Order: sequence, then C-alpha cells, then structure tokens
Amino acid sequence: MTLIDLIRQKKGAKLLNQKGECNFGGWLCCPKCQTFLEEIRMENNLKVCPFCDHHLRLTALERIKLISDEESFTEKFPNIESLDPLDFEDTKKYKERLTEAKKTSGLKDAVITGCAKLDKRPFALAAMDFQFIGGSLGSVVGEKLTRLIEEAIMDRLPLIIVSQSGGARMQESIFSLMQMAKVSQAIKRFHEAGLFYISVLTDPTMGGVTASFASLGDLILAEPGALIGFAGSRVIEQTMRQKLPADAQKAEFQLRHGMLDMIVHRKQMKQCIKTLFTHFLGAYETDTNSD
Ligand SMILES: [Zn+2]
Repeated sequence: MTLIDLIRQKKGAKLLNQKGECNFGGWLCCPKCQTFLEEIRMENNLKVCPFCDHHLRLTALERIKLISDEESFTEKFPNIESLDPLDFEDTKKYKERLTEAKKTSGLKDAVITGCAKLDKRPFALAAMDFQFIGGSLGSVVGEKLTRLIEEAIMDRLPLIIVSQSGGARMQESIFSLMQMAKVSQAIKRFHEAGLFYISVLTDPTMGGVTASFASLGDLILAEPGALIGFAGSRVIEQTMRQKLPADAQKAEFQLRHGMLDMIVHRKQMKQCIKTLFTHFLGAYETDTNSD
C-alpha cells in the first residue's frame, strides 16, 4: 500500500513512531484528526490543520515571527546556558540531555527573549519552545525572563510572554522551583511600575509555569484547544478518585471557569494583540527623530 492510499484511508496514525511523530520527511500527521498534511502547506497555514482547525505547536522563532513586525526582533541574553549543579542523572545524564536538546532544537535553552516591535510599538517578548526538554522552566529560563522583565521596567515597555511548557525542570530540582518565585517577583515589580503584561498560553502550558508567570498577566490569552493546567489529568484522577470531564484542562474549559480572558485563533493573534495594545496603552506615536 502506498503512502497516498494510506492518506486516503486516513490511517495516518499507523505511520507514526512511538513519540507520535510522522516517519516520512516533508509530511506531518495532525494529532487530532490524524490526517496527513504536507509540511510546507502547513507552514503557509501557520501550522493550523485545514481539516479540523487543530493548532500544531510552533517553535519559539515561529512564534516571534507570528506576533511581531518583520525583522524587528533583537534577541537579548542569548548566551546564558544551563549548568548541572546537582550532577543529575535519571535514565540519562542531564548534561547529555542538554547537549541533545541543543542539537535538535538549535537553541541554548527553552526560551528566546528580546525586544520586538508591533506596528512600530516596541515591546519586550519572550517565547518558550517545547522542543528544548519540554519547554521546561530551568534556571536559565527563569534568569532570562527575569532580566527581560527588569529591562522592560527600566525602558517602560509592555511585555508579552508566550508559554509552552511541561512545567518545572526536574533535573534542576529546587533551582528550577526557585524560578517560579523569582519570575513572579519580577512581574510584581513590573505591575507596580504600572506596566502592561499579556500572557499567551499555548499547547501545553502546565505545572510550575501555569502556577507562576503564565497566570500573572494583566490579560491572559490562549490558543484554541491548548492543554492548560497544573498536574496531569491522570494524577488528579488518581488523587481525587473522580473522573474528570473530557475537556478538563483544555483552554475552552479554563475560559469557562475564569482562568483565561480570551481564546484567540492563531490567525487572529497578531491583530488581537495590536488591538489590545492600542486599547490599553493608547495609539503609539513614533518619535519623529527615530523610525
Ligand atoms: Zn486535523
């Protein structure tokens, strides 16, 4: 049977490896409707499935491109890298995991931070990347976010953090958990300075990220269908001995229960942020001496 026959019969799932990834170069399999999709077409469609509207994950760089003016992004603190203070080893040494993650993602850690412009208005931007050890919150992520927030306070810039994370980085133990308090403190000072923070939650936003900076936005937006929660649903069910609703921990459930302000389709995200900036900060007048 050819690949095309399999696509016609929508038996895409059989062509996936154990991690659920497509085994054929140039093709993706939609995790929701299992339809095979050409990678290039999906990139042109912002990685939104044309059949079921499922939002596939974007990389941090794709995310930055999505919500900022072309070529307006300047990266900050690109060279901070994780150490291994606990000399941690589970099924693999943490040092080896870091080396692998750097190779596969092309990143030095799970967040890219910097300054970008949207409709010429400058803002501080951080985008997390699930490819790097599940987008986990380690000491580098915490440090880069804190430095970005501190600079945003000094320069009086609005802030956007796009979260995409499985939670705290267990290989760094307490050093990882400390980042929740550190970044939250920085955001408190940011709020006290009267500045504006939009938190964007994408699939997945879990654990210590949900429990700290991702939930501290003046406005909290999410993408449709994104998994958002603290502990995984299996852990909750085992602890509570109760069955959770089928859509528990989905963005739509969290919106109904007051955890989010809006769910925004990826294709409307840029326009939505522009409107929110104008609404909350006023029209941006560019200085005649600058651009
Ligand atoms: Zn689909």
